[in-house]
Amino acid sequence: MSIEPFNIIKMKSELKYSIGIDLGGTFIKFGLVCSNGELLYEGTLPTEANISSDKVIDNLIIAVRDVLMYAKLHQIVPIGVGIGTPGIVDRTHRIILGGAENIAGWSNIHLSEIMEKACGLPVWVNNDANMMGLGEQAFGVAKNFSDVLFLTIGTGIGGAIIIDNKLFGGYNNRGAELGHTPLIADGIPCACGSVGCLEAYASTTALIRQFKSLSEEAEVIYKEEVTGKLIIQLYLENNNIAVEVLDAHCKYLGRGIAGFVNVFSPQRVVLGGGISECGNFYIEKINEAMQKHVVSACAVNTEICAAQLGNKAGTLGSAQWAFNCSTK
Ligand SMILES: [Zn+2]
Repeated sequence: MSIEPFNIIKMKSELKYSIGIDLGGTFIKFGLVCSNGELLYEGTLPTEANISSDKVIDNLIIAVRDVLMYAKLHQIVPIGVGIGTPGIVDRTHRIILGGAENIAGWSNIHLSEIMEKACGLPVWVNNDANMMGLGEQAFGVAKNFSDVLFLTIGTGIGGAIIIDNKLFGGYNNRGAELGHTPLIADGIPCACGSVGCLEAYASTTALIRQFKSLSEEAEVIYKEEVTGKLIIQLYLENNNIAVEVLDAHCKYLGRGIAGFVNVFSPQRVVLGGGISECGNFYIEKINEAMQKHVVSACAVNTEICAAQLGNKAGTLGSAQWAFNCSTK
């Protein structure tokens, strides 16, 4: 029998476990996470967002109970639950205030309180993009960096700001809406009610809209569904329209990021969402555009990179959020 050195025994005893939940409009992804970043158990459930907020809460409770069963079998006691949800969360009051269009009735939900009563564990809630950013900073491509910006490029643009190892959400967690940074004065309308936001110009939805509009003008019809992936494929084949819209997309995104770098001077700008996985050329194009607009002294320590954790970022980040909150 070998005897483990004292420092290894000490390290093991310091490991903690928490439950991370990534609540999306279609699926609830969840898992049991160790404080060293290991995902010990994971599962997925349909959100059933179109039914009711009560149904969504029932499904979240099923997810927690499922993890607790696994944990009990392995004699693990999680310290609590972290949940990343769409919408605005008042962190202090642990309530979802609203702003989550993809879940029916998802406003004024006292989620922490309801879940704690049902599951018997502390529950901490935060915005989903914040949780993805935290996941990348704790366990992904921005690990070991204290100052990080995260952007998820998809239907919209979500963001997270981490300053000195802490998530920054503004007073009462009402800020960090990076996608709604005004980019173009008198620009096109945005989902938030304003005009000319970064999201309205540089989301994947905007890229597809611009591609379809130019294709229609050129009387080119695509039989398959136009997606970000198709546009990237056509770009790599040197298709004129794809080149034009992707160039514009990267220009807008680079310009938006330059603004963030001028303010926060982060060490890493992490780009998530499906399109960020398309290759180095994409990151390089955005970096080129960013460098054109940034105050160079602000960007000396900044590197733009693609997210690393894919669809696990939300689960891992939510679990990390539970670790952070439990030690406060
Ligand atoms: Zn907006």
